[in-house]
Amino acid sequence: MKKVLILEDEASIRSFVVINLKRAGYTALEADTGEKALQLIAENPDIKVSILDIMLPDMDGFDVCRRIRATNAQMGIVMLTARAQEMDKVTGLMTGADDYITKPFSPAELVARIDALYRRIGDSREENPNEMVSGPFILNTKNRTLTKNGERIRITNVEYAIMKMFIENPDKAMSREEILANVWGKDYFGELKIVDVNIRRLRMKIEDDATNPAYITTVWGYGYKWSA
Ligand code: CA
Repeated sequence: MKKVLILEDEASIRSFVVINLKRAGYTALEADTGEKALQLIAENPDIKVSILDIMLPDMDGFDVCRRIRATNAQMGIVMLTARAQEMDKVTGLMTGADDYITKPFSPAELVARIDALYRRIGDSREENPNEMVSGPFILNTKNRTLTKNGERIRITNVEYAIMKMFIENPDKAMSREEILANVWGKDYFGELKIVDVNIRRLRMKIEDDATNPAYITTVWGYGYKWSA
């Protein structure tokens, strides 16, 4: 899934951008305030490109850009500028933006800029193959750590193996036998119940509400499914 964030308080421009991004194969996340944008970015570390308007109700787009850059050097950032704001181009690039688009812009221009930036980010990310990203989670396969929204979650070796299996198989219903073979190995002679016990414990660590799980859902009579 190729995720792009659009921060723009004018609903008509925002929906114009969203429609054209979706047509070009992107998943668009929308924010109408700087706070909302920063929250979405924290929750979705797999957003690779953000489009930031400058005039916003709660803060200016340059502040949003600076705050993203304080923790994220990799994201592609495009500023939306108005014709009257020629200086914004310079300021935007100074605060860490990668590109700017001047309003009004055509769908073709928008998509071409985002495609180009996305390709560049995609290439550079291949230098860091140790991170598996799924929704708010990052699983580091080198040091075997898990974070959610940037917060570290302590997991056991078995829980690590379960997370890795899930992230490698998004939205796929996995049978309990398949999970057992995957995590404990094909020669394991234990009971299937060990799968349920470990899933229950993992849910308590990673779900917002373990009694109403959103990431690891139960596939009744079969097994479990990962969605993030
Ligand atoms: Ca605006």
